[in-house]
Amino acid sequence: MFGIPSIGKLLVLGLVIGGVYLFFKVKGRREQSLGNGAKKNARQNTGRTPSQSQENQDDNGSLDMVQCPACKAYIPAKSKCSCGGNG
Ligand SMILES: [Zn+2]
Repeated sequence: MFGIPSIGKLLVLGLVIGGVYLFFKVKGRREQSLGNGAKKNARQNTGRTPSQSQENQDDNGSLDMVQCPACKAYIPAKSKCSCGGNG
């Protein structure tokens, strides 16, 4: 007759599948967060800040985002939209 798999074998099988699943899940998440972190760091502080007078910067780190009236894309308030519709 067919051999009924024992609880022990099922447990091992589950652990193996779970381990592989977790491995790829953690791996993917780590790569994602690494990419985001690199982008953030590059934008926020690129080494030393040159001695400039900061005129309209009352909060550090957060940019004011405005919506472009033409293409509805969110862009930094100080920068022009690439579509040319924001002034
Ligand atoms: Zn636009």
